[in-house]
Amino acid sequence: MKKVCSFCGRSDKDVKLLITGLNGYICEDCVSQAYQIVQSSGIMNGEGSQNESKFKIKKVPKPVEIKKYLDKYIIGQDEAKRYLAVSVYNHYKRLQQPEDENGVEIEKSNIIMVGSTGTGKTLLARTIAKLLDVPFTIVDATVFTEAGYVGEDVESILSRLLQVADFDVNAAQRGIVFIDEIDKIARKSDNPSITRDVSGEGVQQGLLKLLEGSIVNVPPKGGRKHPDQDYIHVDTKNILFICGGAFDGIERKIAQRLNTHVVGYNSVQNVQNIDKGNLMKYIVPQDLKSFGLIPEIIGRLPVLTYLNPLDKTALRNILTEPQNSIIKQYAKLFEMDGITLTFSKDALDYIVDKAVEYKLGARGLRSIVESVMMDTMFEIPSKRVKTFDVTLDYAKKQLDKAQLNKLESA
Ligand code: ADP
Repeated sequence: MKKVCSFCGRSDKDVKLLITGLNGYICEDCVSQAYQIVQSSGIMNGEGSQNESKFKIKKVPKPVEIKKYLDKYIIGQDEAKRYLAVSVYNHYKRLQQPEDENGVEIEKSNIIMVGSTGTGKTLLARTIAKLLDVPFTIVDATVFTEAGYVGEDVESILSRLLQVADFDVNAAQRGIVFIDEIDKIARKSDNPSITRDVSGEGVQQGLLKLLEGSIVNVPPKGGRKHPDQDYIHVDTKNILFICGGAFDGIERKIAQRLNTHVVGYNSVQNVQNIDKGNLMKYIVPQDLKSFGLIPEIIGRLPVLTYLNPLDKTALRNILTEPQNSIIKQYAKLFEMDGITLTFSKDALDYIVDKAVEYKLGARGLRSIVESVMMDTMFEIPSKRVKTFDVTLDYAKKQLDKAQLNKLESA
């Protein structure tokens, strides 16, 4: 019988190779063409396949590797980094666990980070999400209201997560939600205000629903519900929640507890060893309760860690050290115009001093550098210069010029 390619019909005499299949043949040209079709469809890379997703489950890095990665972008905060690394690692191990015949089920370990504003809480959560390549969204805890719209609030958060996941429900269900300002919904027992309070137990119940793991019906387009819309069911069971808050004044509660504790045990030594400059590091769940979080919420946030206040050295490092530090970003901008940008040491110190003076923390560094650089960035691309050095005098002059008051109120 004459052998022909089942795809192009050429006989074995006209081709170099004819591969035999179950009910036919294929020649080398058709193989190569088929290969190109498969390649361009993207399914070889996991794209374009049935469960199309830009978020692929990858091998989860080990805690030490996670911390190393965080070190590239975030200065200090070692304790928080270690806690985060371990919890995130365990969380993803939990997702991969096969059914255990002995009924051992690993519970989720949502995280709560306590630390002044601008110390890197959001940056930590964001950086972790980037490393893991999972959908990530930031929400403000103050969206939870007591006015009976609890369901709506929870939905809107999940709808945002779905949006960043390109409506890939599976990916969204493994995502990370950073809930900022969780301290703002703490019950303020000593606040008998008659105006409507956005804090309190009712509000915390809304958040609890989300943390506990429930199936929420999310309208597909995120907006208002529509009768003929099909809801997307999102299960929050495997979403990792990282909460952050400044908890202003919690140090007082910690100090109170430490005092009574110390008196109770009559241990003078312990009192002496306490680092009074940074009481935050002694935080325990009990302090969150004293601050006004309900025990159910605290129970759902089993990993509690703190961030250190940023001192001058930390701020100085933030300016220059991280992989995409502010100074490196400006140098890059200038480099694109063929200009080498340098900062003198005392100019950098001056910028840090100003950030401390304005009490703007790390957040202020950027606005200060921006003010210092504004005129140069305006003029220099039109000049024929190859280098620019920011000296102390220049930095002072520019900052004086850029209305300081504006900065201070920022
Ligand atoms: P928080 O969430 O604690 O209020 P952010 O994480 O939003 O603070 O920090 C604000 C900005 O300050 C970040 O975008 C980052 O540029 C900078 N920053 C704060 N803390 C650090 C840090 N420890 N290392 C590097 N940059 C930091």
